[in-house]
Amino acid sequence: MKVIKITPRGFCFGVVSALKIAVDAAYNPSIPRPIYILGNIVHNHFISEALKKIGLITIDDKSKTRLELLDLVDSGTVIFTAHGVSTAVINKAQQKGLYIINATCKFVNKTNDYIIDKIKQGFDVIYIGKKRHPEPEGAVGIDPEKVHLIENIEDIKKLNLTNSKIAITNQTTMSFWDVEKLAKEIQNIYPTSEFLNEICNATQVRQVGVLNKAKNADVTIVVGDPLSNNTNKLAFISEKMANTKSYLIENVEDINPDWLIGNNTVAVTSGASTPTAITNEVIDFLESFDEKDESTHHMISKLNYLNILQIIPNQNSNNN
Ligand code: SF4
Repeated sequence: MKVIKITPRGFCFGVVSALKIAVDAAYNPSIPRPIYILGNIVHNHFISEALKKIGLITIDDKSKTRLELLDLVDSGTVIFTAHGVSTAVINKAQQKGLYIINATCKFVNKTNDYIIDKIKQGFDVIYIGKKRHPEPEGAVGIDPEKVHLIENIEDIKKLNLTNSKIAITNQTTMSFWDVEKLAKEIQNIYPTSEFLNEICNATQVRQVGVLNKAKNADVTIVVGDPLSNNTNKLAFISEKMANTKSYLIENVEDINPDWLIGNNTVAVTSGASTPTAITNEVIDFLESFDEKDESTHHMISKLNYLNILQIIPNQNSNNN
């Protein structure tokens, strides 16, 4: 089957950096034990399982905030994830006497610094992001009275802000086009508001890659974790903007041959938190897929945790 390998895809700068920080901690005997990761270091459960094999304990519970999760840690080291945390989380970890390692992506820090600066100047900040995602939790946690999380137009209508100074910014991994659209809606209601689009470059170039390439395929396979926001956006862009049916899979074993039979060309991409080895296995499978040969219709993954933790990005699959 013809395979369009959309580039760039897979690990971004922030994910590689966070993984290196976590793996280095695991192999450094001077770091206090046990070592906990507050939430998934990046949104990919294969990575969390691989980190467990080298002694790092991921604490995650979708019903709990990062601040609440910290109640489960009483000693040792805590690693903050690439998505960032609020000042309240940092303060609480310090009060508990924990050794802190901060793996927040520098682009998330940049957005949070912008929010802090605007609040100091007397602004209210409207933050476009996904509810119950750790990155907005960290941003809103800077000042819950002054930072207002919105996800859609209905949320904007409920705001009723009276401050004449309003700034708009966003979660780094949203759809570029959705953020632009929502920011325009906000500026219609608050015409003097300032807008700083903080979609990170890694997210943006992956989205543009899908928009330009998926339209040449009959179907798109997006490799990544269903919890990963940037991965979901890639599937959305293929389907809603490039008009190519997309399927989000976690690894090669999730592929249903019925999606491919009767089609000639498949496009493949992967989220910024998807290990390169998992995507390469998917590509190998698709390239050998022959609808007339049933022996090519299923594949059992041969990867182990060492393949998953391969954190040196493939030059063909990563431009950022
Ligand atoms: S997607 Fe962007 S903001 Fe998020 S970790 Fe990667 S580089 Fe950083």
